[in-house]
Amino acid sequence: MKKLLILLLPILIFSGCFTKQEPEKPYVIMLSMDGFRWDYTDKVPTPNFDKIAKMGVKAKSLRPSFPTKTFPNHYSIATGLVPDHHGIVLNSFYDPETKRKYEIFDRTAVEDGSFYDGEPIWVTADNQGVVSGSFFWVGSEADIAGKHPTYWKRYDHKFDYGQRIDTVIAWLQKPEAVRPHLILWYYDEPDHSGHKFGPDSPELERTIVMMDSLLGVFLTKLESLPNAGQFNVIVTSDHGMGNISNDRKIALYDHVKKEWIEEIEGYNPNYNIMANKGYEDSIYMALQSVVGISVWKTGELPDRLIYGSNPRTLDLVVLADSSYSVVLYPDKKVGNGAHGFDNDNKDMHAIFYAFGPAFKVDYISPAFNNIDIYPLICEILNLNPAPVDGTLENVLPLLNK
Ligand code: AMP
Ligand code: ZN
Ligand code: ZN
Repeated sequence: MKKLLILLLPILIFSGCFTKQEPEKPYVIMLSMDGFRWDYTDKVPTPNFDKIAKMGVKAKSLRPSFPTKTFPNHYSIATGLVPDHHGIVLNSFYDPETKRKYEIFDRTAVEDGSFYDGEPIWVTADNQGVVSGSFFWVGSEADIAGKHPTYWKRYDHKFDYGQRIDTVIAWLQKPEAVRPHLILWYYDEPDHSGHKFGPDSPELERTIVMMDSLLGVFLTKLESLPNAGQFNVIVTSDHGMGNISNDRKIALYDHVKKEWIEEIEGYNPNYNIMANKGYEDSIYMALQSVVGISVWKTGELPDRLIYGSNPRTLDLVVLADSSYSVVLYPDKKVGNGAHGFDNDNKDMHAIFYAFGPAFKVDYISPAFNNIDIYPLICEILNLNPAPVDGTLENVLPLLNK
């Protein structure tokens, strides 16, 4: 009998006979709406955003990382690291060590894991036994540390917005053993409308109404699931949008000679420049006094930007001041909206809403940084986080603990 008990003991303990019932495994479902500025919901009625704010928490704003571009920031949200540390230093960059270029429209580069440093949340999840899904999150199409999310899709700009919702809902209906408990998904609006028509345009307002309705469709479908009460849902964005105009535009080649520059990466309003040998000071001196832009040698940027130590930031960083544009040639036309500016510029700030069992109800949080989201998700999913730049303490007050 004693022998039998010894044999059975581990099984009995494992099956929970001697332990308390395991709590439900938590979920995090995070949606990013590209370029959704912190104050867009004040422009038009947004009943679904208002609803989730009441159901959970809303940050006064979410401070993006510098530079306030799409790829650097989505990957900062995924890793908890600033772009200088995770390596996606711009939407397009040159790596002087490997002499290779990264560009967001170059599928080979986007899907090449060797460009991506840091540990994205889906890798942390997979390492600790959590199934994940990504519908177009930056980085998820690359093999990073030998891994993709469990379910992932190759980026397709035209993929129907409604079908994205249906896919996420279908993932949540998979059998428990293969059901993702971490889902990241993405819409490319209202960024596009903000660039084309400007953040104060009626077209942008119409897009915000559309994004709010999509959120409403998603919420209705989510609420119809039997375990709806278990989902922690985050709705966020990568950056905001600032007004620009062709009247406030600086053309770099009006000030610097082409032969001074070996590589120039980026587009309005920021660039990383590699100087031809001996011309770093020439470029710096030529741009220093130009009204409407700042120029720094990498290593001399203000500390708060946390940028310039990564070799991919090259020799010099050029950044337009708020509402200014910087282009290469004077005949280049700019649109009506841009982002990429200083992350202290309030127009660059993004949104953060969240609700579910992990979150407080009807709570307005002070602004925090987007690098704090990775530690927040780890906390909710009970994952041991990789080392990050973000701070869990900044976001603990959001939680229901
Ligand atoms: P930007 O506004 O220049 O920072 O870039 C935004 C654009 O990035 C969007 O319009 C998307 O089309 C594009 N984008 C977002 N995610 C991906 C992805 N995973 N692969 C390729 N392009 C993407
Ligand atoms: Zn973006
Ligand atoms: Zn954009």
